[in-house]
Amino acid sequence: MRVHANDGIAASAKQALTEEGFTVTTESIAQDQLTNYLNKEKVDVLLVRSATKVRKDVIDACPGLKLIGRGGVGLDNIDVAHAKSKGIPVINTPASSSISVAELVMAHLFTLMRSLHKANRRMPNEGRSAFKELKKEYEKGFELRGKTLGVIGFGRIGQWTARYALGCGMRVIYVDNHATAEAIELEISGASVRVPVKMVEMKELLEQADAISLHVPAQKDGKPVLGVDELALVKPGAVIVNTARGGSIDEDALLAALRSGRIRGAALDVFINEPEPRVDLLQQPDLSLTPHIGAATAEAQGRVGDELVEQIVNWRSSVQVNG
Ligand code: NAD
Repeated sequence: MRVHANDGIAASAKQALTEEGFTVTTESIAQDQLTNYLNKEKVDVLLVRSATKVRKDVIDACPGLKLIGRGGVGLDNIDVAHAKSKGIPVINTPASSSISVAELVMAHLFTLMRSLHKANRRMPNEGRSAFKELKKEYEKGFELRGKTLGVIGFGRIGQWTARYALGCGMRVIYVDNHATAEAIELEISGASVRVPVKMVEMKELLEQADAISLHVPAQKDGKPVLGVDELALVKPGAVIVNTARGGSIDEDALLAALRSGRIRGAALDVFINEPEPRVDLLQQPDLSLTPHIGAATAEAQGRVGDELVEQIVNWRSSVQVNG
């Protein structure tokens, strides 16, 4: 059987699949060449992360495709319903990257509190000629300890983010349409402690949080969870981190809130028009920016790979039994 991982796969997973008898290819094929490649190479299993889109056109044009796998959580780059209607199962790895995304959120929070993103941009050119001026500009930092983090979407990543934030001495409040956790288990050096978290209404979260972190999936109605109305309620001077999906926040409203100084800063790992985010976002100095790297750690990709291998091997066994 032939497996093609178009957005790459951990070396350990490639090796495990090869040892299981699969032929594995990992070169990145451009979206407009993908169907040709999949048909020509007779690919049975297509694996993607977030870059490659597996929409109806790809699924319809590749009758040999038998399984689609997403290394990650969200399935918004795959037309899951259409694949299923054609009898092609879709697998993903929901829990593998939660820790890595939560750690990226904390990195952005520390960055925003100390203006690291701004200092890093200016030090290479001005660090010698204007050291004192830069020091003066960036000396008004803040600590995370004692601040309130508002988590929007209290699932796997939201709860891991809460865990790290609680460990830093933050207070955590959250909104969620399903989750109702009252406490989070923290494990530190083998000891375990339950720390309370509080579910609140969205209005309360927006008004109270010093930092807001978004962890909702792409919304079915396509509406941003933080739009103009919500951003108008955000506590003045707060910071916002979005590692969920580009559409989770209204980019125009965010820019307006930054330009007016109502919020102090924000961090984006995800963008509406990936992989070509709008230039005015990229050039806004109050934004700390990363190119959708929430899950991009050796550890997360190792777990993603292991989880995919296990599911692919199980799927092949079930196909062999049923076929
Ligand atoms: P999850 O399903 O465990 O948690 C999502 C939570 O959001 C659920 O508890 C759900 O009830 C809640 N929710 C949904 N809509 C809501 C709304 N409108 N208001 C309040 N709560 C709402 O998912 P997860 O594993 O925590 O992942 C969350 C999202 O993070 C993914 O869907 C994906 O879009 C994103 N993600 C990004 C990266 C990255 O690289 N930046 C990596 C992995 C996942």
